[in-house]
Amino acid sequence: MEIVKTIATARALRARYGRVALVPTMGALHAGHMSLLAHARNNAPCVAVSIFVNPTQFGPKEDYNKYPRPIEDDLDKCEEAGVDFIFAPSAEEVYPPGQPDIVVDLPALTTPLEGKHRPGHFKGVCQVVAKLFNIIQPTAACFGQKDFQQLRVISAMVDALDMPIDIIPCPTLRDPDGLAMSSRNAYLSADERQRALAISRALMLAYSEFRSGIIQTNRLIATMQRPLLENHLNIDYVAAVDANTLKPVEKVDGPTVLAIAARVNKTRLIDNVTIAPPESLPQRDDDEE
Ligand code: AMP
Repeated sequence: MEIVKTIATARALRARYGRVALVPTMGALHAGHMSLLAHARNNAPCVAVSIFVNPTQFGPKEDYNKYPRPIEDDLDKCEEAGVDFIFAPSAEEVYPPGQPDIVVDLPALTTPLEGKHRPGHFKGVCQVVAKLFNIIQPTAACFGQKDFQQLRVISAMVDALDMPIDIIPCPTLRDPDGLAMSSRNAYLSADERQRALAISRALMLAYSEFRSGIIQTNRLIATMQRPLLENHLNIDYVAAVDANTLKPVEKVDGPTVLAIAARVNKTRLIDNVTIAPPESLPQRDDDEE
């Protein structure tokens, strides 16, 4: 596994390969990230991982400085997983002083949900992902559904700018008790972690309710709010939105994302599930078996 820190060396290394699947990360790698590597491996003979805590996607009062950076651990995990190369640049390498601040903005997708609570977040995400795509020139890139709005925004950016990159959505990995894996879970005390379980529980309750026939999203939203409030989480949003447009929906009559952002003391966590009426899912051909 090769590790490069500069754009020039990353380009030179990339030129040795044909198809490359990129997994952009901010490090502090966990099993969720590792599952993205497996998807990447299925999509290209060369797997590249970027490890970069991107300053432009953090708000001024957010956790940029205290974000975990266990780089040696991350490199060991990547080596073990058979990653071909790592791009781990410094902030100055990615954002040299004096370089103009270019932004890609897709307001219809970046304004709601996370955008409302983290102003500027997606500008930073698009900026860094566009740069990483231009530096590594991957043929595919893997993103987790855990950050479903990010996945939707990146897919739209790639479409709108005709970037020749397959965006591969990857399912959310959870701890056995249901908590979605996240680098930020490391901030939680034992008690906070217990309370944080209310988030996945809320989603599962709403999911079961939908499965039992409830399609009115106001009912599903009320069901999700209950465990969050009982566990004294501060809710940023509990929403039911169209999976494509991210606009709120009143009834689940197509693919719909149930999404939660909530804070357990100072730790902000997000999670979601996608639900859809059976008739909106691709038909399974039973004759094939
Ligand atoms: P991050 O390092 O948090 O920026 O995440 C890097 C990538 O890993 C993003 O595409 C995330 O959506 C994805 N990811 C984070 N947590 C999980 C998880 N629990 N399951 C699957 N993918 C995840």
